Amino acid sequence: MLLVQKFGGSSVATMDHIERVAAKVQSVCQRGDAVVVVVSAMGDSTDALVSMAKMANPDLPGREMDALLATGEIQTTALLAMTLCRLGLMARSFTGRDAGITTDRHHRRAHILSVDPIRLRQALDQGIIPVVAGFQGVDDQGNVTTLGRGGSDLTAIALAGALKADRCEIFSDVAGVFTADPRVVPDAVPIDHLSYDEMVELASQGAQVLQTRAVEYARENRVVIHARSTFHDAEGTRIVDKNLDNPSVTAVAMAKNIAKIGLVGVPDAPGVAAHLFSRLSARSIDVDLVIQSLSHEKLNDIAFTVSTEDLLQAERIAREALVELKGQGLVVDQMVAKIAAVGSGMLGRPGVAARFFQALAEADVNIQMIGTSEIKISCIVSRQDAERALGALHQAFGLAAVHSDE
Ligand code: ASP
Ligand code: MG
Repeated sequence: MLLVQKFGGSSVATMDHIERVAAKVQSVCQRGDAVVVVVSAMGDSTDALVSMAKMANPDLPGREMDALLATGEIQTTALLAMTLCRLGLMARSFTGRDAGITTDRHHRRAHILSVDPIRLRQALDQGIIPVVAGFQGVDDQGNVTTLGRGGSDLTAIALAGALKADRCEIFSDVAGVFTADPRVVPDAVPIDHLSYDEMVELASQGAQVLQTRAVEYARENRVVIHARSTFHDAEGTRIVDKNLDNPSVTAVAMAKNIAKIGLVGVPDAPGVAAHLFSRLSARSIDVDLVIQSLSHEKLNDIAFTVSTEDLLQAERIAREALVELKGQGLVVDQMVAKIAAVGSGMLGRPGVAARFFQALAEADVNIQMIGTSEIKISCIVSRQDAERALGALHQAFGLAAVHSDE
């Protein structure tokens, strides 16, 4: 059996942690399985690098940012490979470039274009454990790129796909995916199986266990993901290619790293939304929820949400659009949060939305915006209401009980 095992930043935070990861990898080899290891940067070291870069140049030039950020995961690969060698195993460190990961030129959020892990295959054939730096690749001109925050998950999944591994295990400090963030909702319980669609929605709604783009890649390439804890033996969560007979809602999630931008009093005419959103997408800014008010006196209000990371740029673009459209005003609100309920069992089951809104009403939570997909209901609420709203939904859909007998 060939496994890809990815260890996140908190699993390799110190040399003690790396020692424990090495012991875990050793036990896989002792059982006779082959393994490719993918690692993140140690602890919060990526954040530390970003802070230093801000001092060097607040514009954060993309090429140099990626050259800098990629070093974080490279450190971990060398330290883990050395540790494995000390334990008597054969191991070798590889950068993203060495692993054959080619991306587009989009610094800090590059997309993988191809994966050709020829050097990793050679190592495996010789019984050497490849230890690969996550989160990075190289563009067609040889520049180092990074794959977006949390991108080591994507590296692991892409390598598992290219190497036709039996599965990709993503180890972190939590025992898989829970019905809600257990730090916020104490009676949240782990979920043993999720479909790709559910996991994509949950990740994009704020569940932090897996990077959204990594799950999308897994869905496209049919890579089986197993999310589990590095330091506990709990079963964790398997993300698989089927829609199981699920309860209507499988999990709830919350995201606080979002902001709302509203354009007030823009003309009610064809092309106005296109004007605004094409400018945002030209700068690769992801827009999540959108609302447009009923038109009044040939004017509309349009509001949308973006991640706080993109807020400055998005605000600048919205301000320009407002001037060009001769609108009346701009509203920016950072004190918001997004709350969502996700479940493939929602399909064809009316009443889920009613229950969702009833639960928020009973918790006295005011709703600012609403968005839905076939398997998700989400809404924007004031940030101070977010935890209360999440707890109310978890309770209303009986999530602590739904999974407890699995
Ligand atoms: N070190 C990167 C980050 O903190 C990538 C990762 O951990 O997956 O976002
Ligand atoms: Mg991570």
